[in-house]
Amino acid sequence: MAKNIFRKAKRFPKMHLAVVGSLSFIALMLSILPSSEVEATRSQIELISPKALPEAQLPVAETTSSTLIEHNEQTSATTEVAEQPPAIEWQRFKVKSGDNLSKIFKRAGLGAKDVHKIAQADKKTKHFNALRPGQTLSLHIEDNQLITLRIEKSLLESVEFSLTDTGYQQETLVLEPEMRQRFVTGEISSSLYLAAKSAGLSENITMKLAEVFGWDIDFALDIRKGDQFRVLFEEKYLDGKRIGDGDILAAEFTNNGDTFAAVRYEDSNGDVNYFTPEGRSMRKAFLRSPVDFRRISSGFTRERYHPVLGVKRPHRGTDYAAKTGTAIKAAGDGKVIWRGTKGGYGRTVIIQHGGNITTLYGHMSKYNSKVKKGSRVKQGQTIGYVGMSGTATGPHLHYEFRVAGVHKNPQTVKLPAAQPIAKKERANFNKVANDMIASLQQKAIEQLIASESRAAE
Ligand SMILES: [Zn+2]
Repeated sequence: MAKNIFRKAKRFPKMHLAVVGSLSFIALMLSILPSSEVEATRSQIELISPKALPEAQLPVAETTSSTLIEHNEQTSATTEVAEQPPAIEWQRFKVKSGDNLSKIFKRAGLGAKDVHKIAQADKKTKHFNALRPGQTLSLHIEDNQLITLRIEKSLLESVEFSLTDTGYQQETLVLEPEMRQRFVTGEISSSLYLAAKSAGLSENITMKLAEVFGWDIDFALDIRKGDQFRVLFEEKYLDGKRIGDGDILAAEFTNNGDTFAAVRYEDSNGDVNYFTPEGRSMRKAFLRSPVDFRRISSGFTRERYHPVLGVKRPHRGTDYAAKTGTAIKAAGDGKVIWRGTKGGYGRTVIIQHGGNITTLYGHMSKYNSKVKKGSRVKQGQTIGYVGMSGTATGPHLHYEFRVAGVHKNPQTVKLPAAQPIAKKERANFNKVANDMIASLQQKAIEQLIASESRAAE
């Protein structure tokens, strides 16, 4: 299994260098993956519709050094809003370092009694204890009486305390950003990263683009000068200001003359995946390597010279050297059929997948406590952590891929595609895919015409 990982590394230094090179690029790309914060925001934004909040109440980020920003807000004239609420005169305060509610209330001309009264409404949630420098507090005061206090938690979320007959009532307001579509096209001269940057793509969208096509294209090794991409994606706007990226809706990538197209599709269960316009999954059913590794310390061989035993012995898996504690992911969806110590393999997990395929993960330092024998796991789910339990000379994952009990080389085995579009989704998918691909092509033509007419001027 792992006894001669160092010897192996010495024998093929060049190959390892290439592997490490391509991986560090992917690792870099992975490090700029969208944060979980973005996901959290997405799940919250459905809570309140934009119409529930008149524009006069939208929190506006101020960039002034003054601590008091007097602001007479005007409701912007829109034809669709029939009933305009009366304009509220808000006083705005930026939280300074060392500030607390008492200090801010003092600046607003309010007293200790007001602080005490409103603090009653925050006993459990403790928003007042969590004020951060730079945050904006908006106060609506009438006749020396605080009517409403609003704390801006983020661009999209604020907490409001409003005076009622029974004291101040707390409410969380979540804004839904406006989603605008944007089309970007680019041509590669050296790397996707540089081409995307000069085309105006954010790192976030570039990373997503590499993720969508990463199953077909190795962005470190396969990229050629002249490769092209077209991306239609969403951006989040609030009050006319761009506040972040949304998702890629559709994209095309031409690599070395081959064009790949992908369409985002959310099915009736809310699961989101990318498919080819024909409805095949962009994903494979298995990850090529189930761990972010530093190098392959030992490849798959039918016969391998064993340095200790001095005999030839096969190595029927791939050894991925990685730091102890690195997460090991399930290579594909399946069911855990073994979790326990298994001789020289040490702490081992075996997963049964569809198509009579099993995968084995050895030498773990520990298991994911939630993943037990019989558990159903999803592709990419953490099942355990890299270690050197069993017979191993250094921390690594020993990974095996078996089809009907026969060991295959995990690095070269042909990986089956993930499930295509489901039958019951087919009609809807076709409509979405046709619209998206047509839109992609239409925008490419528009851009071409625009650039030609600019050139003609
Ligand atoms: Zn091994």
